[in-house]
This record gives sequence, structure tokens and C-alpha cells, in this order.
Amino acid sequence: MSDEEAPVLIVGGGLSGLTTALFLAWRGVPALLVERHSGPSFHPRAHRVNERTMELMRTVPGLEEALVEAGPWALEDFAMVIGMTVTGPEMHRLNLAEEAEAVIDASITPVPVSSAGQDQIEPVLLQFAKDHGADIRFGTELVSFTEDDSGVSAVIRDRTSGSTQTVHARYLIGADGHRSAVRSALGIGTHGVGTLSHNVNVTFESPALPRFMKGKEATLYYLRNPKFTGSYIGTHIPERGSVSFDYDPSKEELSSFDDKKCIQRVRAAFGVWNLEAKVVEILPWEMASRVADRFREGRVFLIGDAAHQMTPAGGLGGQTAMQDGYDIAWKLAAVLAGEAGPGLLDTYEDERKPVAEVTVARTVLNYIERLAPHRTDVPRDVKADNIGVTIGYRYRSRAVLTEEPDDGMPAENPRTPSGRPGTRGAHVRLERDGIPISTLDLIGSSFVLLAGPEGGAWTEAAGALPITVYRVGGDLVDVDGNWAERYGVGPAGAVLLRPDGYVAWRSTEGAVEPGAVLEKVLAQVLQR
Ligand SMILES: Cc1cc2nc3c(=O)[nH]c(=O)nc-3n(C[C@H](O)[C@H](O)[C@H](O)COP(=O)(O)OP(=O)(O)OC[C@H]3O[C@@H](n4cnc5c(N)ncnc54)[C@H](O)[C@@H]3O)c2cc1C
Repeated sequence: MSDEEAPVLIVGGGLSGLTTALFLAWRGVPALLVERHSGPSFHPRAHRVNERTMELMRTVPGLEEALVEAGPWALEDFAMVIGMTVTGPEMHRLNLAEEAEAVIDASITPVPVSSAGQDQIEPVLLQFAKDHGADIRFGTELVSFTEDDSGVSAVIRDRTSGSTQTVHARYLIGADGHRSAVRSALGIGTHGVGTLSHNVNVTFESPALPRFMKGKEATLYYLRNPKFTGSYIGTHIPERGSVSFDYDPSKEELSSFDDKKCIQRVRAAFGVWNLEAKVVEILPWEMASRVADRFREGRVFLIGDAAHQMTPAGGLGGQTAMQDGYDIAWKLAAVLAGEAGPGLLDTYEDERKPVAEVTVARTVLNYIERLAPHRTDVPRDVKADNIGVTIGYRYRSRAVLTEEPDDGMPAENPRTPSGRPGTRGAHVRLERDGIPISTLDLIGSSFVLLAGPEGGAWTEAAGALPITVYRVGGDLVDVDGNWAERYGVGPAGAVLLRPDGYVAWRSTEGAVEPGAVLEKVLAQVLQR
């Protein structure tokens, strides 16, 4: 058994683990990721890289383009249909682009979404992670780990050769999915509604699919008939689709779902009893709602489904997983580089757990409304709507200088941004050197100070600090003249944006000693 060292060991190569590896590597931390499968999943579970996730992804040059190329359908193409079968009459059609409340339009964000499935997103993340120097090992699993004050020692095993080795890492990330062995080893429990239904996802191929689905490729079907309750969605391969259905384990054994039985369900979903089809993969999964009681134990962090499991209704599980990965990566990189104190790592749970709680609750309600209106045993009082949990969620932690009074709401409407610390820095159209950009184009690699047209004292004072500095009305042109309103500051005010684009602090006006103020703010936010 040999030993090796890594700054960060990531267990799990799904959306959350790959995102963490990519953003750590991009920030100069060559993490080691182990994934027990021999390659990325080819099961199209999650679809889309949504707007908030894309705002984070685009900070790495080329990544936004690669993700859009992997899934080029536009929002206008997306529809949700409720019916008895895919080929039968539609009982209800919801065109997402026509749902004013659901649409995240160009006034909220300039980013495109990607309609790619998880089977296409993961290879893109993998390629970018490797290109930036992450060490990704497929066919390798975590066996056990111990931690002490200085780091984590983990035994990993090559599943082909059976050989084991010990990795000494400063930190361990449990990105190992909803059955997380890392979470169990830490003795961290979960809470929530629990299992809502038992499901099987069948990815299949049929030469007839392109004919049935012509013009409806971007449609998600919710189906209910005497032989099928579940959903259907296509994939980027015209002949390949995926049905998902629930079953009652007290009446049917999971092991009974062999290829023959699964194809019968595919036929029932389509209402075509002689549909020629073959199974590509069968994936059992649970519709469930659970949140880990803690997201951190010492030097070990839980992210993605290991930290929170939600229903697919709302399409937010994978997004939340990727956003967790971005969050823990910038914080770990800052601590490992000595730019931030270890206290910054506490803010991972302080910020991401409340977001997980409200997002999970929202997706349970979506499930109830769409598929199980008869269920009365589930809480319906959710304090954020879909757009709120998608792109309006708020953070409260020591990495944010929260202003009082605080209404305590988990999200704000992104159409009417307040600019309060702990909210996502709003998109404002700017021009730099004659080129149109967004405030969102300024974030990513470092903290950013945006000062108003009369905020020269802030920009001068910030010059001595590790902050990128801009003056709106100076080097940046405020195209619509709404910067001050969207950030709630006056002409001499300033805003500090974190590497994730969240407002860490703002001053509505100038200050007597701006340098001292900024130093104090940065010391608090970075927990130095
Ligand atoms: C049917 C369905 C539809 C969905 N639709 C959407 C959607 O439209 N939008 C959306 O955003 N989300 C959706 N989701 C949710 C999304 O798929 C998950 O939230 C996402 O996969 C979570 O990613 P993860 O990286 O946290 O976990 P996972 O994808 O579960 O990855 C965990 C990885 O860890 C590996 N692993 C486990 N133990 C070990 C070990 N000891 N050593 C090494 N490796 C290990 C596993 O092999 C696995 O690859 C859907 C889920 C399902 C089931």
C-alpha cells in the first residue's frame, strides 16, 4: 500500500464532484477526485444547466459555450405536457416561455441556459477539470477515512487491480450521492419528508422515436394511465429516450424489473403496444426529500445529493449540486492560499444548508402539485417560489455583512433586486472600452469593488487591497442608468461582490476613512 498527498480529495465524480474539481483546479488547487464507476454516467437524469448555475460556470472561459453547444435547445422550445400517453391527446401543455412568472428573462440575467442532459454535462465538466489540472481517477473508490487536526487520511482502492493506497489530504469532500458513505461514516443523519415514491428510470432506444417526437424533442411528459404513472423525456440522441415510473415495493420486487418488463412500461408510456425498443440502462431511484443535519464535520464537507436529496420536480437537484461545488471550491481555494482564515469554511454550511432546505421543500411541493395532489401529509407552506429558489436565494453568514432590519425571507424576487448584502449581485448592462458587458462579467476570480461615479475615494483606497476595482460612471458606462437603483447605493456609494457574485457589503455613501472601512470589511468576510 503506497501513500500520496493531495490538497483536497473529492469522493464522487457526478455533477457536484466534477464541478468542485474543476473550480478548485481553475483556482490553482489540483484536487484528486475518485469515482468508483469507470466513466461519467450516461444516464440523462438532470436536464439543463439553469441560469444561476450558468452564471457561475461562465466564469471559466469557454465553459458556457461548451455547455450550450452540448444542449442547444432554447427556453422557447421547452414544454411540459400532462397526458395519458406520449402519443395520445395532451390534457394540459405548459410552454415555459409563456409562463411570465417562471421566465428568467434578459432583464434578470444575460446568460443562456443549456438544455444538455446530465450525460452530456458531466463529460464537459470532466474535460475542463482535467484541462485545468485536476487529477480525476475513474474506477477508484473510497474505502475508509480518518481525520485529525492537520488533515484527512483516506484509503482508496483501484477497482480493477484491487490495489489500495492512502491519500493524505488537507480536506475531504463527500460528493458521493444520496447514499453517501462519507455522511454515514461521520454519523450525520438526515431530516425531511423522506421517501415519496420508489421509481425506476429506463433509458431505451427505439428506431421509431424520431418519428413520434418530431418537433417535440424538448418536451417533458407527465403521464398517468392504468399501466403507467411517471414521465418521459428525450435525449440528445434522437433514437434514445428515458421513461421514469413509480412502483409499489409491497406489490412488485425491484428485481422483477428486467428488460422485458421495462419495455412493457415504455410501451405503456407511449400507448404503442408494439413499439420496437431495447433497454440501454435501468436505474432504480427514490423520489425523496432529505437534508443532512450537518454539511460539515471538521475537515470533511458534504455537497450535492450527499447533503440534500430533492424531487426532480423543478429540475434543481443537479443545479444545487453544482452550485455547492462552486461555493466550497472558492472558499477552500481562498483558505488553502492563505487569503482567508479557516472560519470562511464555516460559511459553506451557514449559506448552503438554508438554500438546500427551502429548495428541497419547494421541489416537494412541485411534486405534490404535479403528480400527487391527493397527498395531504406534506408541508405546503414554502416561503420561496420557483424563481426564488432558482436565482433569488439569499445568504446569511459571517461572509456577508447583513444589514438590519432583516426580514428573514429565504429569497428575493430577482426582478426587483435590493442590492442588500447576502443577495445575488444584480445584472446591470455596462460598457467597458466600448464593449457591452454585464456586472456578471466582472465576477469570478477575485472580490470586486464597484463604486459609484462619485466614489473615487473608494476605488483609490481599494487599490492597496486584493480586490479588483471598477468605477461605474468612470471606467464602466452604466448603459441603462440603473446601477445605483439595482444595488441600492448613492453616487458616492460602493458595493463589494464576492467571487460568486453575491453582495458581501455595501455602503450607500462615501466614508471618512474608506481604506480602514474596506480593510475591516474584507477581514470579516474572509474571516482573517
Ligand atoms: C430521474 C431523475 C431526474 C432528475 N432530473 C433533474 C433535473 O432535471 N435537473 C436537475 O438539476 N437535477 C435533476 N435530478 C437530480 C440530479 O440527477 C442529482 O441531483 C445529481 O446527480 C446529484 O449529483 P451528485 O454529484 O451530488 O451525486 P451523484 O450524481 O449521485 O454522484 C455521486 C457519485 O459518487 C460516486 N460514489 C459513491 N460512493 C463512492 C465511493 N465510495 N468512492 C468513489 N465514488 C463513489 C457514485 O458512483 C456517483 O457517480 C434528477 C434525478 C433523477 C433521479
